[in-house]
Amino acid sequence: MQGYVPGEQSRDPGIVKLNTNENPYPPSPMVAKSLQAISIEELRLYPNPTALKLRQRIAAVHGCDVDNVFVGNGSDEVLALCTRAFVEDTGSIGFFNPSYSLYPVLALIRDVPVRPVELSAGFSWQMPRGYNTSLFFLTNPNAPTGMLHDKATVSRFCRQMPGVVVIDEAYVDFASAHCMDLAMKRSNVLVVRTLSKAYSLAGLRVGYTIGAKPLIAALFKLKDSYNTDTIAQHLALAALSDLRHMRANVRQIKNTRIRLAGLLAERDVFVYPSETNFFWVRPPVVSARVFYESLRNRLIMVRYFDGPRTRDFVRITIGTDQQVDKLINAIDELELARAPSACGSRTGNRKGNL
Ligand SMILES: *Cc1c(COP(=O)(O)O)cnc(C)c1O
Repeated sequence: MQGYVPGEQSRDPGIVKLNTNENPYPPSPMVAKSLQAISIEELRLYPNPTALKLRQRIAAVHGCDVDNVFVGNGSDEVLALCTRAFVEDTGSIGFFNPSYSLYPVLALIRDVPVRPVELSAGFSWQMPRGYNTSLFFLTNPNAPTGMLHDKATVSRFCRQMPGVVVIDEAYVDFASAHCMDLAMKRSNVLVVRTLSKAYSLAGLRVGYTIGAKPLIAALFKLKDSYNTDTIAQHLALAALSDLRHMRANVRQIKNTRIRLAGLLAERDVFVYPSETNFFWVRPPVVSARVFYESLRNRLIMVRYFDGPRTRDFVRITIGTDQQVDKLINAIDELELARAPSACGSRTGNRKGNL
């Protein structure tokens, strides 16, 4: 089988890393403080097997019971456990195409067929009539498209689906709406969150899910005895105790999102509306692959996904304003898009101030 291929993880300090949707800003200072406070003596002992204190904090943040919360070694572990908990050997797994490229790999590992739902040419969602599957990964906002699907449609789908719907909200902190109430209300819905994106803690590996108690209990039965370690539990608790810091970082990224969308559009790069920390774009003059490879040669990493639905697009993580400047300079110097001025002069009138 073909395993999951993660985005390149280069540690070259000269690289502008806009390929795996990490947060360019540091996590809360409370996280560093919490790390310094951990004693080596504590690591001699096993961690709390159910991450109880962390789950209590998550329950307080979302206003639910601690038994509605499960914590995983990254949300990827939660997703994998869902394929073991909620899919019979005769079942199937569904997701949007395109969406997170881990889902088909999880189905392959679980050895069940996939039932992908093709998104439209513009990447909107049209659920086929009578659609049914054991487990559906509903990514909202979707990745790699960045688009937020309408909540009424999500809600209707959850009502109609006899199987379990896992709403993967990895990017929801950058979005204008969420579906947490569906997880609170419905017996077949889980909402999955991660600390990897908005909380700037991709290296910590903490994700969680919220849903009906029987679904959560099923995940507990299957998990590794100590699936999150002592350090991760402490640091995640610190991060979730300083939501203000996370929200300030998100605000900054949203400001840069507006700016980057403008700079790309000025260059005729087609930009899909994003409610995430990345853009899904179609370059106007060179192929997406050449766009990606040319930037890569300039040590600017963006993500390219080969395949029939994705090969004309690249996904660009929204970094700092300085990283955005480097990206735009490279696009201009390598002539990977159109010159920004309609009048032909770089310093001439732009669309906005004509
Ligand atoms: C990043 C991402 C995840 C993975 O999150 P981890 O908590 O780092 O495992 C899950 N789903 C989607 C759609 C993502 O983009």
